[in-house]
Amino acid sequence: MIGQTIEHKPSVRKIKLAFCCFTTSLFGGVNVGRLQAVAVFCVLVAPFVVPSRAQTTPANPNAAKQITIVRAAHLLDVRDGRVLENQAVLVEGDRIRQVGPAASITNEFGHGATVIDLGNSMLLPGLVDCHNHILGNPKDQSPTADLRMSSPLQTLWGLHNLQIWLAHGFTTLRDAGESDLAYGQLALRNGINQGLVQGPRIVSAGNFISLTGGHGDADPLAPDQALARRPNLADNVNEVGDAVRRDIKYGADWIKLMATGGVMDTTSDFNVQELSEEQMAMAVEIAHRARKKVMAHAEGTEGIKAAVRAGVDSIEHGTMLDEEGATRMQQKGTWLVPTLYTFQHGVAVGASLGADPASVEKGKKVLGYQQTAFATALKHHLKIAYGVDDDPDFVSKEFGALVRGGMKPLDAIQAATVRASELLGMSDQIGTLEMGKYADVVAVTGDPLVDIQAMESVVFVMKGGVVFKMPAQK
Ligand SMILES: [Zn+2]
Repeated sequence: MIGQTIEHKPSVRKIKLAFCCFTTSLFGGVNVGRLQAVAVFCVLVAPFVVPSRAQTTPANPNAAKQITIVRAAHLLDVRDGRVLENQAVLVEGDRIRQVGPAASITNEFGHGATVIDLGNSMLLPGLVDCHNHILGNPKDQSPTADLRMSSPLQTLWGLHNLQIWLAHGFTTLRDAGESDLAYGQLALRNGINQGLVQGPRIVSAGNFISLTGGHGDADPLAPDQALARRPNLADNVNEVGDAVRRDIKYGADWIKLMATGGVMDTTSDFNVQELSEEQMAMAVEIAHRARKKVMAHAEGTEGIKAAVRAGVDSIEHGTMLDEEGATRMQQKGTWLVPTLYTFQHGVAVGASLGADPASVEKGKKVLGYQQTAFATALKHHLKIAYGVDDDPDFVSKEFGALVRGGMKPLDAIQAATVRASELLGMSDQIGTLEMGKYADVVAVTGDPLVDIQAMESVVFVMKGGVVFKMPAQK
């Protein structure tokens, strides 16, 4: 006898689990008032519907071992680009137990299992966004946005935003740093790991480590109105050590350095190197000794090279990468997270979301360098991971930007799966549909190897064996 089969009809339990996600995606991209209402709803409801292991295990020891079979007409092996037909993923608890032909897996393990038949769609591993900022309202780009919102409210926004990442199939995120000195992003990471609330698994940087007046100085005020000096500012080597140690003390997985100026603050110059090579080398030394990694925001050419020489693990943006910089990155194996779409989108959005006119102008200028730099990165076969650095409503848009920039569709998909898992040091846990890894499974309609836009139509999302999104019923 075959167990219960679900065809596009989630069980009552799963409808409840997925409800925040559905609600969010229904309202994604609409006005702020409604988004806020949804955020509050998710906060109120999530604690009651998230399957906390701590809650369920004692009451029902078999719950953690529940068997689910997810089957579909196609499965993309992201390691080599092969499309396998009529495949199934056998899920036991939060892990993948087996992947193979749907008929034999259903015959062997179907008894008593929940079978989710996704019809003609294509299965892929859960997606990974390696550059994002989860806190706050992504639709407020004013330079004082973070100063007008308390850490608790930024964190509630973060919880809301996380549901949007999940609904788009992103089951793991690397937060690329925040200005919140209370580290709301780490609270969300821990809350999700503890089963208190639902969201993607998070690997996170702490605060932006920056020069005074640099890209990560959150204070845009006049000199006679200035904020008290914040602990993420570091104007010499010793102060970098202090800032790195503060991040590590409070639980950061990564250290985020501002190697150059950037776009979204009002004063810095993206051409200019900010932290010195010695400062960055100190950050790398302390972080690596503590088994943490270092990412560097780096747009201008000299800052990129200094960060690479200092030994950072990843260059973020790399918007003005030149031949010499790319050669060094290739030699050292430094990762690039190019975040192409957010620069293109930023120019299209202009000042309509409250960005300062100075930022809008900088955004237009820096975009002119992007394609040359990205072509150079591809020519040097740099290790590239997927990162959007934008409102999560647009998280899937980076796929198209990478392909327009010259990447093959499979390479773009690998950047968000198997390659991203390498950058995060989680290759044994996520990034492919393979036995023993977390059961992070998504499905898309269409073939993204033929049309990369199929990555924008994720219809099914499972994270750690829990279903968060099912195809809409016809
Ligand atoms: Zn960023």
